[in-house]
Amino acid sequence: MNLSKRLEKNCGKLIFDCTDEELFSGILKTVNELKEEKKCEEKKRKLYYISAEFLIGKLLECNLINLGIYDELKKILSDNGKDLSKITEVENEPSLGNGGLGRLAACFMDSVASTGLFGDGVGLLYHFGLFRQVFKGNKQHEEKNPWMDKNSILTKTDITYKTEFKDTTLTSRLYTIDVIGRKRTNKLNLFDVETVDESIAEDATDFDKTDIKKNLTLFLYPDDSDEAGKRLRLYQEYFMASNAAQLILEESRRRGATPENLAEYAVIQINDTHPSFIIPELIRLLCESGVSMDNAIETVRKMCAYTNHTILSEALEKWHSDTITAIVPQIMDIIKELDKRVRAEYQDESLHIIDTNSLVHMARMDIHYGFSVNGVASLHTRILKETELNNFYQIYPEKFNNKTNGISFRRWLEASNPRLDEFIVSLIGDKFKNDYTRLKDLEKFSNDKEVLQKLLEIKSANKVGLCGYINEKQNRNINPDSVFDVQIKRLHEYKRQQMNALYIINKYLDIKRGILPKRPITAIFGAKAAPAYTIAKDIIHLLLCLEDIISHDEHASEYINIFVAENYNVSWAEKIIPAADISEQISLASKEASGTGNMKLMLNGALTLGTHDGANVEIHSLVGDDNIYTFGDSSDLVISRYKKGSYKPSEYYEKDKRINEAVEYITCNKMMETGDKESLKRLQNELINKDYFMTFPDFADYSTTKDRMISDYENRLEWAEKMLFNIANAGYFSSDRTVAEYNKDIWKI
Ligand SMILES: *Cc1c(COP(=O)(O)O)cnc(C)c1O
Repeated sequence: MNLSKRLEKNCGKLIFDCTDEELFSGILKTVNELKEEKKCEEKKRKLYYISAEFLIGKLLECNLINLGIYDELKKILSDNGKDLSKITEVENEPSLGNGGLGRLAACFMDSVASTGLFGDGVGLLYHFGLFRQVFKGNKQHEEKNPWMDKNSILTKTDITYKTEFKDTTLTSRLYTIDVIGRKRTNKLNLFDVETVDESIAEDATDFDKTDIKKNLTLFLYPDDSDEAGKRLRLYQEYFMASNAAQLILEESRRRGATPENLAEYAVIQINDTHPSFIIPELIRLLCESGVSMDNAIETVRKMCAYTNHTILSEALEKWHSDTITAIVPQIMDIIKELDKRVRAEYQDESLHIIDTNSLVHMARMDIHYGFSVNGVASLHTRILKETELNNFYQIYPEKFNNKTNGISFRRWLEASNPRLDEFIVSLIGDKFKNDYTRLKDLEKFSNDKEVLQKLLEIKSANKVGLCGYINEKQNRNINPDSVFDVQIKRLHEYKRQQMNALYIINKYLDIKRGILPKRPITAIFGAKAAPAYTIAKDIIHLLLCLEDIISHDEHASEYINIFVAENYNVSWAEKIIPAADISEQISLASKEASGTGNMKLMLNGALTLGTHDGANVEIHSLVGDDNIYTFGDSSDLVISRYKKGSYKPSEYYEKDKRINEAVEYITCNKMMETGDKESLKRLQNELINKDYFMTFPDFADYSTTKDRMISDYENRLEWAEKMLFNIANAGYFSSDRTVAEYNKDIWKI
């Protein structure tokens, strides 16, 4: 049946007569039929990618692309006066992720299916997901985010398992989401608890955290600033691990595995430490089925690989053994056994799983009892080997490997920037979609004025598009001819949104003194702060107060503006990234493990303004000095400064005029009238007296580099040439390349 007939059948009427909602349902049905037609065979060995988060974004558009019917459908719709981009607005964005780590998991699922690998994701089905960010009184408020209600993409299965806790036994229910790739369809397996009760939560923070039967799968990362919150997270982690283990055992058995040869049938990638209980849980279940402890440990060691995502010590998970004993005593018994075996081999305290304060170090368990440990960018892996995990590297050098992160080009180019995608195809054909490093062929157009001009036109059109979207969503008018300076990422002090804010304050005050920039600047932010992270929320408050003050300053707002997107998510990213001119990647060197926003922005022709951190280092070596703007202290210097403990921010605050002026402004009269005095004073005090993530030492270099960048922007053709080099060299960052490396070195499926 041809596509338009099929769609009309599924809508039950002529396309012309359908509303966008009716078309959305009809297209969803059509996608499901076509997906059935290319069902995929099971193979012997299967990957299980376990993650607390999957930040998948809306699915419809990418599914159409991967089924190869996107262009045809778009044409059919427009012939009937319908707009596919309006229809995709009907879909709710699933709220199953938080930031880069969850988005990485989503890109990997796409690439695994698109490159034809047999592998599923496993995680939890959070009914309200991560909180929805709402701005009120220039502050972030957290609301629940019910995303599952309409046109659900979820399939309910009849698979249920039991998970035992000391005080209760919970029954799970498996739901699946199809991961429709170019070559095959895999699954995202999401476990829910049968007794979940949405009605107990008024908002994202105010609910009974102890009512585990009802609350377990309501929220991703529920507030854990109190004991009940911490315990809830442990319940979630064990529930996820236990269900994953049972699913893996059952599926593998069905494909022919025995407890002895299980490792030939399943390989497990542990995405950060949240799923780490899978290790002791699998060992426990194997022992229960009659395998000896020695053999169970050896089998599980052959199955599990761990990805490290951070060196921030506060983000490295540690559970008190009393808490684990109180909630899942059976798992503490196994962990004690694992620790005992480590102690028998190694005296060094820092290698032990359970430390002298009875804290269980999850990463240490993963390293001892898995076969692979990977970092997510080459600098990050080097730091793990040389510094952070050096003691482990000494004993297991063969386990350590690097897998530089990547992104799905189907989502971050084809779906989100169709203008650029079409233009590239018109220049070099579409073969690059099988091997994205072929984008390099674009370099031969670096002196072609027409091509460069066209790149600028595409960027302009995308900027106009974003302005329309911003106007619709948040009723703000943005000047599309201004420089779009973009910093979109979770709010964290190490990512240093505060440094960008200080720069904006300096510029604003310059403008008020009559020093005007050649072209207006629009600073675009998107960022959620963790609900209990006070300073991060203070920084959001600072940004919103600045937005408020500057947008009401008639003269200055002709030259500079701030826009903060409310509830930053994948849908926002898909709109902002194609329109970005400057990609702010200004983390404190050594702290950003990789970043993937930097890759998306590069691919879309934004130039990086960045520190020597994470994957920025690899971007730099790919594009060369002329096509990136770097600044700031090296990771080695930063690490040694931490070791010495010698940094005193007050010295910079007293000596550097620009820093002094900007920091003073945070508590000036205008700010005090506009914002919350306590919050602004706390932030100012934090910067002057602590500045743990060392904003000030990099500030002068940041300012001059950014000024130079903005002035270079005026040389439009030279800028376009830099854009071209960035796009042409982004191919390395395709997650198809990343998963191929995982498969070659780790999964071997
Ligand atoms: C890519 C992405 C991130 C990660 O951004 P970084 O700059 O790498 O921290 C976070 N959130 C969303 C919605 C994304 O799409």
